[in-house]
Amino acid sequence: MPLPSKTTGKVYFVGAGPGDPGLITLRGVECLRMADLVLHDYLVNRELLDHAPPSAEKVCLGHHHTGREYSQEEVNAQMIAAARAGKSVVRLKGGDPLVFGRAAEETAALAAAGIAYEIVPGVTAAIAAAGYAEIPITSGQQASAVAFITGHERSAKAGERLDYAALADFPGTLVFYMGIRSADRWSQALLARGKPPQTPAAIVRRCSWPDQEVVRCTLGDIAEVVETRGIRPPAVIVVGEVVEAMPAASWFAAQPLFGKSVLITRPRESRLGDWSIFRREDTADNFDFPRIMDLSPSPRDEMTENLRAWGAEVLFQSAIAISAPLDWGPLDRALARLEEFDWLVFSSMNGVRYFLERLLHGGGDARRLGKAKIAAIGPSTAEELKNCRLRADLVPGEFRAEALADALCAEAAGRRFLLIRASRGREVLAEQLAAAGATVEQVVAYSSIDVERPDEAVAARLAAGGIDWITVSSSSIARSLAKLFGENLRRTKLASISPVTSATLRELGFEPAVEARQFTAIGLAEAILERENEIASIPSR
Ligand code: SAH
Repeated sequence: MPLPSKTTGKVYFVGAGPGDPGLITLRGVECLRMADLVLHDYLVNRELLDHAPPSAEKVCLGHHHTGREYSQEEVNAQMIAAARAGKSVVRLKGGDPLVFGRAAEETAALAAAGIAYEIVPGVTAAIAAAGYAEIPITSGQQASAVAFITGHERSAKAGERLDYAALADFPGTLVFYMGIRSADRWSQALLARGKPPQTPAAIVRRCSWPDQEVVRCTLGDIAEVVETRGIRPPAVIVVGEVVEAMPAASWFAAQPLFGKSVLITRPRESRLGDWSIFRREDTADNFDFPRIMDLSPSPRDEMTENLRAWGAEVLFQSAIAISAPLDWGPLDRALARLEEFDWLVFSSMNGVRYFLERLLHGGGDARRLGKAKIAAIGPSTAEELKNCRLRADLVPGEFRAEALADALCAEAAGRRFLLIRASRGREVLAEQLAAAGATVEQVVAYSSIDVERPDEAVAARLAAGGIDWITVSSSSIARSLAKLFGENLRRTKLASISPVTSATLRELGFEPAVEARQFTAIGLAEAILERENEIASIPSR
């Protein structure tokens, strides 16, 4: 193996696992983080590509029947050319790269070209099926061995290459890959060699994906079950006595939100923590947002984590894009005279982030806040302040501008308030404070614009009724969603974060299915869980 040099890149064969984005190794994620080019199989979860830098080129190597399919020679040539140009290339393969993954053909080409490579193992489909369908593929009493077998032999003309007599006698579990279309052939071959037709079997389709399907059958009726149920690849078929131990619903399928999809619509940057992709291209000021999110996981990430922990499929479609304000001038001028204010009022997490980052950017830090008291409109905003090691002096019990105004009005007369806000928003707070005798200045810390076009796949899925829930976490998101999806919003259930947001939805003609009791992202997730539990507990007749 040639020594890696600074001028030549390297190719990383990374096992992506079976589908669940959590089933990639830490090393695999590390490789993706430093990738310049990612060449991925059709079957890998696209979410994994988010680990790669936004600047990395991502190429899907295609699949039969869909779009362009790359030949092995083309793939090899592309890897070699990129590595020679000094790039880090990740070849992301489903499951494990060396289990029916053909990585060996690719590493041979690299070795011949003198390109260095590394292989990062992954969770192969058989092992994933064991875990996610709860089949103990080896088991003390019933199976001391397991075999991974292809149901798809390369050359049918050359006859059966597999020794089915040996497989029929194999003292353990058989796991067939690529065995759906050929189920009739290989199951007949085993039966013909004397394997009992009543041998238990399980078809595990799309293992570890939100639409995982598990079907119990026997060796004798596999082909018929595949045919009558119309089961399509990808699936593994586990054949052996161990299948007896499989529960009717595994831990995975028994999760409370298993099979439910939730579309999250908040601005995407709140999720990724990668501010760079939202930097305004058109501003001369190339203010580089640091990755404060890496240090301070936002409570909104917990919503995704909660939903996933309950087994939901989480989809993303930002309704709003957050970015730097068109003009930093007003914020910079306010920051220069911070000591003049008695109160700093934050009405969103993003306000906190942009305000503090800009303060730091200009050479200041928390000491500049001096005597000013801090108010936060709600718990998430207060939490974000806390992440930045600042304590909110006031958080109203109710998450709405009116409640904040009421709480502040008692102190308002003669005081100076700085309201830190988005480029649009409600005027209630400023008006009420001014009416109570305060001096109010408002400053735009970030701009918020409607996303104009939805992702095509998301829009199509919604139109087909394939999305169970959409989270609506602000009034501006509600309005943007109405523009993005229109009447198709009736094909899903809407989860509203607060009474204000619900009122906006109703104004737009959409009735929310649930409203969060706690006006936070986590409250939203909990409302969805509660409603789904209610639905599940209604006895079906
Ligand atoms: N390298 C992969 C296998 C690639 S061959 C691995 O280690 O898993 C493709 C076959 O893998 C499919 O036909 C199917 O049999 C199996 N497979 C891949 N992903 C799967 C999944 N999520 N659920 C069930 N089977 C899967």
